[in-house]
Amino acid sequence: MPFQVLTAAALPAYLATLPPMQERFTDFEALDVAEVGDGNVNFVFLVTQRGAPERTVCVKQAVPYLRCVGESWPLTRHRMDVEVRALREFGALCPQHVPAVYAADSEMSLVVMQRLCNHRILRLGLIDGLVYPRMSDHISTYLARTLFFTSDLYLAPDAKKAAVAGASNPELCRITEDLVFTHPYDDSPTNAYPPGLPPRAIERLQRNPPLRAAVGEMKYAFMTATEARLHGDLHTGSVMANAEETFVIDPEFSFYGPMGFDVGAFIANLFLAYVAQEHRQRDAGRDPAPYREWLLQSAVETWEGFERKFLALWREHEADGTGFIGRDLDGESAEVFRAAFMRHVFADTLGFAACKMMRRIVGLAKVADIAGITDVAARTLAEVRALRIAEHLILSRHAFGSIGAVVAAVERLGATPLDA
Ligand code: ADP
Ligand code: MG
Repeated sequence: MPFQVLTAAALPAYLATLPPMQERFTDFEALDVAEVGDGNVNFVFLVTQRGAPERTVCVKQAVPYLRCVGESWPLTRHRMDVEVRALREFGALCPQHVPAVYAADSEMSLVVMQRLCNHRILRLGLIDGLVYPRMSDHISTYLARTLFFTSDLYLAPDAKKAAVAGASNPELCRITEDLVFTHPYDDSPTNAYPPGLPPRAIERLQRNPPLRAAVGEMKYAFMTATEARLHGDLHTGSVMANAEETFVIDPEFSFYGPMGFDVGAFIANLFLAYVAQEHRQRDAGRDPAPYREWLLQSAVETWEGFERKFLALWREHEADGTGFIGRDLDGESAEVFRAAFMRHVFADTLGFAACKMMRRIVGLAKVADIAGITDVAARTLAEVRALRIAEHLILSRHAFGSIGAVVAAVERLGATPLDA
């Protein structure tokens, strides 16, 4: 079918034309359609057959512009092809953490996928102070599997190069290059300075040559490294979860890039939640300490779980693969290389986490964890602390010996007073 923007009213008749939908629904006259309005970029509909709640799907359609801005910000619909391909690849590697694709229509820029029924956007749960006991275990599994199996450490060289060529996503990468790695440090018109943020906090970000140089290094790594197929936008709004299950959605920014970008994105959002929860927990009449402790512990478990699982996959597949550095005599050189590799990914993780945090404070797109705090003084305090943490993470990214040392610094700088 040639492209047209779907409405809730038109969706049932359209779905009836997709052969795989005959398995999902038995009565296309009896479909209830609800539009989910919280996406920034695309249209998402939840479709359920009346009287059969298990017969339900999620439909996502890309339109040729950025939804939250409007037709003045054009964006090609090619991004849906990227998203479908990434959902399929990540789903094959990690079916328990990625919604299944039931049908895709490139002409219509649309995907029909598994509807996550009892899951909530992770960011919203974290804002409410919910504990997700399996979150870091699941996210670290997702990261280890998607990043290892799409890298040169697993794939044959020709297959890897073909994969890189097939994952090109220049338009959405450009958004990240501008909004994450350039504009926040440049007093760009796209920036959105929070109402209470003191000018000296902005100057610290934009008049700081060592920081600017470090951000330049991260941008260069983002643009040139082709280590693995990334999700590309792995913040807590791209995760849907409950106490038992965790799903990663929305991979339209997917491309081949540096592994630390995905790991860092997730950890950055835990740190942003951490600075927000001082106020949020108190506001809810609770002692902030236990929940904030859980957030930092989750950052530790995400990194440590990722590292452990990634290394286990690497050692396991080295036995049956080609071995990335060949066959050495005693295995020692492979272990030395592995340790150096993980140090590199760790430093990248911290550097990218920092950029993600800084852009969420001064750049165009905010996180509700902080921006949703209505008490301006409390919001500003969280923002100043986030910037202070980010500055330290990026400048010292090669100096941290462990994630434990990182969260100790986050705790210390997360107590920065407003006038510091
Ligand atoms: P966008 O690309 O516009 O950001 P998302 O993929 O983030 O769109 O989806 C927007 C919203 O739609 C999500 O925040 C979530 O509430 C809902 N949603 C997305 N995918 C699913 C799904 N598979 N099942 C249920 N709800 C979903
Ligand atoms: Mg999204």
